[in-house]
Amino acid sequence: MTSAVVVGSGPNGLAAAVRLAHEGLDVTVLERSDRVGGGTRTSELTVPGLLHDECSAFHPMGVASPFLGSLDLERHGLRWLWPEIDLAHPLDDGRAGVVSRDMERTAASLGVDARTWRRLFEPLSDGFDDLLADVLRPVVHVPSHPWALGRFGLNAALPATLLARRFDDEPARALFMGVAAHVFGRLDTPLSASVGLMLTAAGHRYGWPVAEGGSQAIADALVSLLEELGGTVRTGVQVTSLDQLTDASGARPDVVMLDTSPRGALGIVGDAMPSIVARALRAYRYGPAAFKIDLAVEGGIPWTNDDVRRAGTVHVAGDAAELVEAEGRTARGTMPERPFVLLGQQYVADPSRSQGDVHPIWAYAHVPHAWPGDATEQIIGQVERFAPGFQDRIVQVVSKSTAQLEAYNPNYVGGDIGTGANTWRQIPLRPRPTLDPYSLGVEGVYLCSAATPPGGGVHGMGGFNAAETALRRL
Ligand SMILES: Cc1cc2nc3c(=O)[nH]c(=O)nc-3n(C[C@H](O)[C@H](O)[C@H](O)COP(=O)(O)OP(=O)(O)OC[C@H]3O[C@@H](n4cnc5c(N)ncnc54)[C@H](O)[C@@H]3O)c2cc1C
Repeated sequence: MTSAVVVGSGPNGLAAAVRLAHEGLDVTVLERSDRVGGGTRTSELTVPGLLHDECSAFHPMGVASPFLGSLDLERHGLRWLWPEIDLAHPLDDGRAGVVSRDMERTAASLGVDARTWRRLFEPLSDGFDDLLADVLRPVVHVPSHPWALGRFGLNAALPATLLARRFDDEPARALFMGVAAHVFGRLDTPLSASVGLMLTAAGHRYGWPVAEGGSQAIADALVSLLEELGGTVRTGVQVTSLDQLTDASGARPDVVMLDTSPRGALGIVGDAMPSIVARALRAYRYGPAAFKIDLAVEGGIPWTNDDVRRAGTVHVAGDAAELVEAEGRTARGTMPERPFVLLGQQYVADPSRSQGDVHPIWAYAHVPHAWPGDATEQIIGQVERFAPGFQDRIVQVVSKSTAQLEAYNPNYVGGDIGTGANTWRQIPLRPRPTLDPYSLGVEGVYLCSAATPPGGGVHGMGGFNAAETALRRL
């Protein structure tokens, strides 16, 4: 029987494992942590009974993913839940731009920019599924929907700052720039508009849902399906070399999938990797980092703007100019005074995560790569700015520094939760410029993590694409 070992049980590793098991391979997943899931784990981090997503929280690309969507994961316990408002961006003057699956609701929050927003996002959201068929693959391919891809590409190639000039007022400008900031880098460079366009269009088409009971449900559903297909998962196994994977006769599995960073892959494959590939992976760049906090908050956050109270995701950043400045500093390695903060109120969609009137709040700030400081007070200060009285409601707070994030998951090099910088070069060509981005130049050995196309996020498409490559070779 053809055998496969997948190193790492993040969503890409598990997606690769499921795809290979579907084709009848004998699949084993090895995970260094004592729990499966990589960036999709959930725990009681603050007070007993409160469920906190340790990493990923909102899943526009998870619900939109063609591969995850084909697996009927609901049969394995996954249930998506939507907040009334998917995303809100509060401003100092009390207004807030919002993204909702209901375009009318978004337009109503954007005043003079309602028409411009619709003109930009309605075609993208209507043609979103066609677009996904192309953007979730390696960049060099024959497009399935050239018209949809071309229309997206013209805007996606722009710096986010240039695209935002189409809006006349702050709610739309800040709302777009907040989503664009998921690129985790400078917002004035080519292609920096791409992530903002994709995630906003995904929000209008599919919303930004959470998984009932926590993101762990995504990993658990994938493991349940894998086991049904005959695969196995072993936790607490750190893989340090390919030799560790050989059987008694010294034979390596037919397929080895690495759900690791390029740095991790270099360590495991070592000298077996051709020098040209090794050189490219050593030159792979990691991006700015996250500083994460989880809070237990009594009575929820007293946002000044009512729409923000009903939103799942909140971008806490002030206006567009402030945001661009903060992200520019972070990318250059200087900690801004007021960092960009992403905040999650998953419980508004999934009340099962709260205990009575005490609710779990998830937040992280963008900080420089490997930043050694503590941003807890800065994050709390940013929220207090748009929700006076917030601090008095905090029951418990737990923080994770950039170093602790990397210790938690080595794929987050220097606290970079995207496993690689989204520079204009690495957005289309990661982990290296090649027609075969999943191959590591060693027969049967592939990289399948967020460091491969289509990049970060919980969608499993890196794993699926890598598995397809391996199956073609077999
Ligand atoms: C704070 C935070 C918030 C986020 N928010 C979101 C969000 O809201 N929505 C979203 O879509 N994404 C979000 N993400 C990003 C998302 O979690 C990642 O992009 C995604 O998990 C990447 O999946 P992956 O399978 O490539 O790798 P990972 O999920 O990182 O999994 C890799 C796994 O491999 C294991 N591993 C690594 N090396 C070895 C080894 N040598 N031996 C054995 N095991 C090994 C690791 O322990 C880990 O379990 C967030 C991430 C963080 C940290």
